[in-house]
Order: sequence, then structure tokens, then C-alpha cells
Amino acid sequence: MGKVPVITIDGLSGAGKGTISKMLCIELGWNILDSGALYRTLTYLIEEKEIDVNSFLKNKDDLIKDFEVTFQIGSVGEPVSVFLKDTDITNLVRTEEIAEKTSALSSLKVIRDFIRPCQRAFKQPPGLIADGRDMGTVIFPEADLKIYLTASLEERAKRREIQLKRLGTKVNMRILLDELEARDKKDIERDLSPLKPAEDSFVIDTTGLCPEEVLEKIKVLYRSLK
Ligand code: C5P
Repeated sequence: MGKVPVITIDGLSGAGKGTISKMLCIELGWNILDSGALYRTLTYLIEEKEIDVNSFLKNKDDLIKDFEVTFQIGSVGEPVSVFLKDTDITNLVRTEEIAEKTSALSSLKVIRDFIRPCQRAFKQPPGLIADGRDMGTVIFPEADLKIYLTASLEERAKRREIQLKRLGTKVNMRILLDELEARDKKDIERDLSPLKPAEDSFVIDTTGLCPEEVLEKIKVLYRSLK
């Protein structure tokens, strides 16, 4: 197998990672890894199976059997669909409640160790767009291009509000802002794989930019590497 190119898109919640990753996948015809959705799905499965995280290792083999996650790109503007085996669990995992629980679980070493090989397995021809928090720093340090997206808290909350409303969820903006800020803080300050730009990443502030403008910047960067 020849070299499989990887572009990593890391950054804060609501900075535009999902939208941009999807647009890049469509443009390049590559595979997608929505690593946040992978963590959310594991959280969902742990809840469904009523597994105590303290005995996670004991249940590992049972979990691996059922942890078959695939993504469907779908249309731009909608989040990537998440399938657990054949079941579409998108609406079950893309809730703020699961996000909150995922943020706590994902700070644990056993969880990150479990998910790492699952993430690496998505690196398949013709290429991979890896969306997450530590794609460029930890999971794919060899990536061809590393992007780190940021945006103001207010703009990120507005984008998340639109996403949640589309999924039919009622939104209180004040609560959403607080939740987003708390989750950012947790992701940035945790000991394991904290959210930060890789040293060799390109940081793009997406505040006030439309997705097409961000995509263009990334395409220019990717072309300049070839
Ligand atoms: O991106 P998304 O909001 O779906 O991620 C949910 C949570 O999963 C994040 O808040 C973060 O705690 C965790 N996560 C992570 N590492 C990743 C992707 C997500 O720790 N690569």
C-alpha cells in the first residue's frame, strides 16, 4: 500500500471542524474520521451496557466486539452521520448530555488507549481527513497537513445552537455558552492529550469567515505542500 495522505483538523468545539472536514472529504473524495463522534459513541455504549468505568479493562473485549463505528458524510450543513454496526445513532450521540459525559470520560487513559487503534484504522486510501482535538499532536503526528481552527466563544455557541436546533433540541444560549466554555477548559487543561495546536500546525481563526473561505485557505496550504 502506498502512502496514505492525512489532513488533521483540530480545534475548539464549534470552531468549524465538522463542516470543514466534511467539505474537504467531499472535495478530495477521502475518508473521514470524526474522532469526537467515536468518543461519544463509546460513551453511549458504556452507558447502554451499564459498564462501570473503573472496571473498563475487564469489559474491554466485550466492548471491542460491539464498537464497530462507521461514518456517512451526507450533505454539507448536516453533521456526519454515525452508525454503530447498522444502526444510525447520530441523534443519540450528538446531544449536549452525551458531550458532557464524553468530555469527562475522554480524559481517562484507559479510554484514550482503547480508542487510539480504532482511530488509526481509519487511515485508508485514498486519504483521510481526521477531525478532533489531538489528531495532529498525538494520533497522526505524521500527517501531511495539520490545521487548528479557533473562533470566538460567542460565534462558536451560535454555530452549535444552529446544529442543535436542526436536531430538534431546545437551546438556552446562556447555558450553551457556559457548557461550551467549561468543556473547552476541560479539554485544554487535561493532562492526557490536551487540546492545543501541534507545533507544525497552521492556526486559522474562523470568526467572521464563511466555510468556503476557510476551505479555500486550507486548499491553498495543501497545494503549497505538493
Ligand atoms: O468534537 P465533539 O464535540 O464531538 O467531541 C466530544 C468530546 O470528545 C470533546 O469535548 C472532547 O472531550 C472529546 N474528544 C477528545 N479527543 C478527540 C475528540 C473528542 O477528547 N480527538
